[in-house]
Amino acid sequence: MESPRDKRYMNRKKYCRFCKNKEDIEYKNVDLLARYITERRKIVPRRVTGVCAKHQRILATAIKRARVLALIPFTVLHK
Ligand SMILES: [Zn+2]
Repeated sequence: MESPRDKRYMNRKKYCRFCKNKEDIEYKNVDLLARYITERRKIVPRRVTGVCAKHQRILATAIKRARVLALIPFTVLHK
């Protein structure tokens, strides 16, 4: 039987969404990259996002490139 508590903990089981969905990480995909940077424009550590080492690396490169090209806004707006 499942308790509501167990369901909460399911979120802790992380997997790499890029491996699973075979999504491409592109520096042009700002919406995607924005999910992996904090409001201080730092890259979210992979222990938080669950992204695998390989994709974290690709992600980091894409984010850096997007920054250089000013595709990522200075302040990521939160609501
Ligand atoms: Zn991956």
